Amino acid sequence: MTLVLAAASATLAPSPALAGDPLWTTPRLLGTPIVYVEEHVGARFDSALRSSISFVDRYTGSDMRLGRCRTGSRCIRVIRSNATHGYGAWTSWTPGRKTTVIRLSATLARKNWHTRRSIIDHELGHANGARHNSRCTSRMWPDYRCRNKQLPARTFTKSERAMLAKW
Ligand SMILES: [Zn+2]
Repeated sequence: MTLVLAAASATLAPSPALAGDPLWTTPRLLGTPIVYVEEHVGARFDSALRSSISFVDRYTGSDMRLGRCRTGSRCIRVIRSNATHGYGAWTSWTPGRKTTVIRLSATLARKNWHTRRSIIDHELGHANGARHNSRCTSRMWPDYRCRNKQLPARTFTKSERAMLAKW
């Protein structure tokens, strides 16, 4: 029972590169702020994803665009998958984050729009270098809801902003 509850409360994926994160590149070296977001999740997530893209772009200075990934630009693939280690979503990336995959689960698809958007904000935060926040003061809180049952504030902390600005 304890294990079940623990798994249910930890709904989001820890960043797999949390320890060290040594392979961060400066994608500006790729010569363009354009990051292609290749979407394979369909209408259920579409408007939330669009909203999240413009939200996270404000902090990264990137120009994320929905469209097929292209050689020479960073790429974020957003797919429907339940291979999320028991979490609502899971983000992983290749060295330098040149290619990132965000998996959105069927469980997440059943959540309401604001919750879906909150999680996509969070995962795009990971995709651009943000880590978890141990306090519920930003979208990087690692759960669907704060302890007071509210969604995490739609913002990033000062240190998260510093990471995102390095995208
Ligand atoms: Zn997370």
